[in-house]
Amino acid sequence: MKIAFFGAEGKVGCALVPLLERAGHEVRGIEIGEEPDVAGLDAVVDFTTPEAAPANVRAALDQGVSCVVGTTGWDPQALGDNARERGLRLFVAPNFSLGAVLMMRFAEQAARYFPRAEIIELHNEAKKDAPSGTARATADLIGGNTIIHSVRLPGLVAHQEVIFGSVGQLLTIRHDTTARESFADGVLLALEKLPELPLGLTIGLDTLL
Ligand code: NAP
Repeated sequence: MKIAFFGAEGKVGCALVPLLERAGHEVRGIEIGEEPDVAGLDAVVDFTTPEAAPANVRAALDQGVSCVVGTTGWDPQALGDNARERGLRLFVAPNFSLGAVLMMRFAEQAARYFPRAEIIELHNEAKKDAPSGTARATADLIGGNTIIHSVRLPGLVAHQEVIFGSVGQLLTIRHDTTARESFADGVLLALEKLPELPLGLTIGLDTLL
């Protein structure tokens, strides 16, 4: 596929672009201030900031190009409607790592048997939004008023613990992302499935598994 990558020079972009190219995609990075000229491409990928992603997606949809977005901390609903009206697709995943998606699924199952849970999400200090999109999505799956604790420190990549408590027992489900290359499989899967997705907005890697 011919792809434009918004945020190609960022931490995730630097890890992913070579892997997308190795998988056979032709990737063009688009940086801040560059004209978002994507007409005729097969897809746009965005790993930027919550402030930049909506404008990038809008520009892509205006030019008739479907999008795969990993940027967290923004609401894609309105642009999903925009995509559907144009016969396009907007796929957004708060976490492209397969292990993290399984962690969320296991947490949803455990929630049926434990009365209380809290989430600790730990990310690199550069992450701009808190709590993380993955933590908020996990809390929604668990239900109730699940408390989320956010840690931002140098040395961290992306980590999450879901701790379930009951009388006399604790269950901890933990996932650690140790390298950003872990997001490549999820992005490649999203690009492969993009043409088959329903028009408009699809959220979450679990919908593709
Ligand atoms: P980062 O290192 O700050 O990279 C963001 C990049 O986007 C920077 O190179 C930045 O350029 C660039 N950028 C900002 N505005 C732009 C625009 N309008 N057009 C083009 N490029 C623009 O952040 P990151 O760690 O790579 O993370 C990026 C996003 O992905 C964050 O929202 C993060 O939470 C999310 N994320 C999602 C997943 C997932 O699995 N869904 C995984 C990891 C991270 P400058 O440096 O020049 O400002």
